[in-house]
Amino acid sequence: MEKLFYPGGKKKVFTVSYDDGVLQDVRFVELLNKYGIKGTFNLNSELMRSEFAWVHESGMVVRRLSPDAVSELYNGHEIASHSLTHPYFEGKPREFILHEMGQDRENLRCLFGQEVSGFAAPFDYWSPVMAEAAKDCGFAYARISEMSRSYDLPEDLYYWRPGIFHLDGELDQFVDGFLETDTELALCQIVGHSYDLDAENMWERMENIFRRVSRAENVAFMTHIEIVRYLKSIGVR
Ligand SMILES: [Zn+2]
Repeated sequence: MEKLFYPGGKKKVFTVSYDDGVLQDVRFVELLNKYGIKGTFNLNSELMRSEFAWVHESGMVVRRLSPDAVSELYNGHEIASHSLTHPYFEGKPREFILHEMGQDRENLRCLFGQEVSGFAAPFDYWSPVMAEAAKDCGFAYARISEMSRSYDLPEDLYYWRPGIFHLDGELDQFVDGFLETDTELALCQIVGHSYDLDAENMWERMENIFRRVSRAENVAFMTHIEIVRYLKSIGVR
C-alpha cells in the first residue's frame, strides 16, 4: 500500500490543545511561536467577558484573559469552543448543551472573525448526546478529556481522545516514543492549561519538549482543525 504523509512529506504531526484562555497563555503562545509549533486554544466566551478568576490549590490566582487581551494573541493558532460557561454537563438537557456549544461558537466567531470548528469538552464528562449536539452545532470535531496515551489518529472525530495530559508523569517518555515511532501518520497531542506550567514550575521542561520536536526533521506542526481537514482531504477520515 502507498504510504501516507502529512503536508511537506512529513511522517508525523505534533500539536497542543490548551484550555480555558488564561493569563499564562501569553507566555505559552510566545513559546509555541519561538519553535514554530501550532496550538489549539479552547475558550469560554462568557467567562472571558466577566474576566473570571479563581484560586488554584497552589494558592495562585488563575485569571482569564479578557476579549481585548486576546484579539491578536492567538494569531496563527486555532480558536476552538470550550462551552460558554464551562459547566459540568452530566444530567443537563439537550437545549442547554446546544446553547452552551452553539452560542460560544457564535461569540468566538464574532470576536476573532474566523470560523470556529472545534469543541473541547470542559471537565471530564462526554456522552452520545453531547457528540450529537456538537455535530448539530456545526463542529467538525470534539476533543474529549480522556487520554488515549497513543499516537493513533482518532477513530471517531466526535470522541477524540487526545494523547497525553501535560501533568502525566510519563510526558517526556511519551514524547521520546513519538520521536521514535514508525506508526503511519503518527500524532502527538499534548493537552493542558498553561497555568499549570506556573503552578508546577515546568516551563523549562515544556520548552525542552518543544525544542526537541522542532528539531525533528519528519514532524509537521498543525492545529487540530488543520489535521482534520487534511485527513479528510486524503480520505483517511
Ligand atoms: Zn477547562
